[in-house]
Amino acid sequence: MKTYKCYCIDLDGTVYRGKQPIKETVQFVHHLQHQGIEPFFVTNNASQTPDQVLSKLAGFGIIAKRSHIMTSALAAAKYIALHYPGKEVSMIGESGLRESLLEKGVCIVPSSKEVFVMGIDRDITYEKIAQASLDIRQGATFISTNSDRAFPNERGLMPGNGAFTALIQSSTGVEPIYIGKPHGHMLEMIQLEHQYSKEDMVMIGDNYDTDIMAGINFGIDTIHVNTGVTSTEEALLKPERPTVTLENLVECI
Ligand SMILES: [Mg+2]
Repeated sequence: MKTYKCYCIDLDGTVYRGKQPIKETVQFVHHLQHQGIEPFFVTNNASQTPDQVLSKLAGFGIIAKRSHIMTSALAAAKYIALHYPGKEVSMIGESGLRESLLEKGVCIVPSSKEVFVMGIDRDITYEKIAQASLDIRQGATFISTNSDRAFPNERGLMPGNGAFTALIQSSTGVEPIYIGKPHGHMLEMIQLEHQYSKEDMVMIGDNYDTDIMAGINFGIDTIHVNTGVTSTEEALLKPERPTVTLENLVECI
């Protein structure tokens, strides 16, 4: 199998399921690190800070580099700092998004006519949705960390940020800019910050519609693993197949 310089690995369903590590992926990461390759971890989950992701990975025996963690919250903050410098930003979201915005020097305000950004918020209320809708109607650019309508946890499939984003989109008639997978923004940031060519990059994940499509949309190779959302059979039925399909990542060692 082809080897790459830049391995971009999804987290949920690829490295772990909830609180359980996927041991074949942990072995694969160790294998890469023994060869001097530090993989990147790329997640749509905007609730956690990069440091929280690092400590979760450490609990599974993976010592990752902070500079190699890419969350949709961090990517949204970088996107806003780059494209809307100096603008006031209102937000719905948790600490992962808030801390990423502050780290990038973004000015967070309770209400803004300039930029509104949305990530998963498990304390969402009617009032938060109402204020965001009013801001967007007054002209604020509408940015959302990801379009995931549902995400898995121990209880089953829970409402995701994409579902709440769709609610505001439905009410205002304004389409958001989505940052997370299947869009290529996070992969593009990794490419630009670390100077890889697209031929050197591969996106690895369990979810065809987000992980594999992000790789396809960005124009890099993809590896689908049969450890989470999309089965291998389903992935092979798609019009654009992943570059490689595997049961798990031990097959890469
Ligand atoms: Mg996944």
